[in-house]
Amino acid sequence: MKGARMRVAVVGAGIAGAACARALADAGHAVQVFDKSRGVGGRMSTRRVTSVAGADAVLGLDHGTPGFAAVGADFLGFVEEGQRAGLLARWTPRLAPHSAALQGGAMWVATPDMPALCRALLMDLPLHTLCTVDGVRRSGAMWSIESAGVTVADGFDAVALAIPPQQAAVLLGVHRPDWAVRAQAVPMLPVWVLMGITDAPASGGDWHLAQPASGPLALVLRNDAKPARAALAAQAQWVVHATPDWTGAHLDTPPDQVQALLQAALADCVGGALAWRFAAVHRWLYATLAAVSGDEQTDGAHACAGAWWDVGTGLGVCGDALAGGGVEGAWRSGRALAALVTAGANGDRA
Ligand SMILES: Cc1cc2nc3c(=O)[nH]c(=O)nc-3n(C[C@H](O)[C@H](O)[C@H](O)COP(=O)(O)OP(=O)(O)OC[C@H]3O[C@@H](n4cnc5c(N)ncnc54)[C@H](O)[C@@H]3O)c2cc1C
Repeated sequence: MKGARMRVAVVGAGIAGAACARALADAGHAVQVFDKSRGVGGRMSTRRVTSVAGADAVLGLDHGTPGFAAVGADFLGFVEEGQRAGLLARWTPRLAPHSAALQGGAMWVATPDMPALCRALLMDLPLHTLCTVDGVRRSGAMWSIESAGVTVADGFDAVALAIPPQQAAVLLGVHRPDWAVRAQAVPMLPVWVLMGITDAPASGGDWHLAQPASGPLALVLRNDAKPARAALAAQAQWVVHATPDWTGAHLDTPPDQVQALLQAALADCVGGALAWRFAAVHRWLYATLAAVSGDEQTDGAHACAGAWWDVGTGLGVCGDALAGGGVEGAWRSGRALAALVTAGANGDRA
């Protein structure tokens, strides 16, 4: 297989899948990407708000990760390249009194919206959106991709699952039941997010980021203070994260009740009632990694370097949960899987 050009299906167009697909394509492989959502980015997501009373502007509220840190030299290099390309900017929010500095006081933000980074990575690659993969089937030495019980693409040498572990477990079950069990056990935290637009607050509006020490809120952000976001005169754009504990206790609470509770908590946080022009909530069942998962070796699979790769069958898994969590972990995991796939194609394959 030395120098072989493989056909690879990447399931998931978040940062792990995008980084994996980009690295595979750059290594000469033929890649197709599948995602269940309308667009790419996964948890690096932005909700577009097109109709806000009193304004014609189209706004975006970053209701997934608000930003991210870059620690490792490899990821920092990637991020700085993104900054030079105008895809990433550094944001240093003004902190509310008594708030701890999140991610060292500054964070990286994709511009003009969070999915922009994944869009750029995937720009020239075949992408199937609105395609929920509910089966991956191996026949002979080839993989096919199934959605709604129908084969939507086939003839792949390898499949890379770049989706949260609990969702990957469903697809892994038949092929690698041992991985499915491990994936199910990865501890992920849920987060309810309130996003919305209000009239500018009468008080408490001179900061961009607050981390309340108690109560239901973990994080309060002024989205319009981020780089390259549209700001509207006399209005404020909010993204509010509930704590994992509060979210856990309200997992099945109806969204309208969650919205009302979080709006009341935000009013407490800013010190007065807010006049809402738009509000919505989103429940992330698998928002962030609770703790770093083990990286033990399993039979017939390389579990090294933050990705799972079964060289014998051409099945792989990557994502934030396999490489320490967060955007940086997801990116590194996607690249690690691409390296393992490429090494297999170049002769390491069993
Ligand atoms: C509220 C919130 C706050 C966060 N805060 C931070 C932070 O401060 N710093 C930080 O570094 N990280 C943070 N994160 C985590 C960070 O966003 C993630 O670690 C990272 O984006 C995960 O990338 P991924 O590619 O591994 O997974 P995802 O982004 O989840 O991508 C998976 C993709 O797979 C798709 N998919 C899933 N199942 C299927 C299927 N069956 N068929 C087809 N497609 C499928 C999904 O639509 C999605 O696009 C936060 C996340 C959330 C939600």
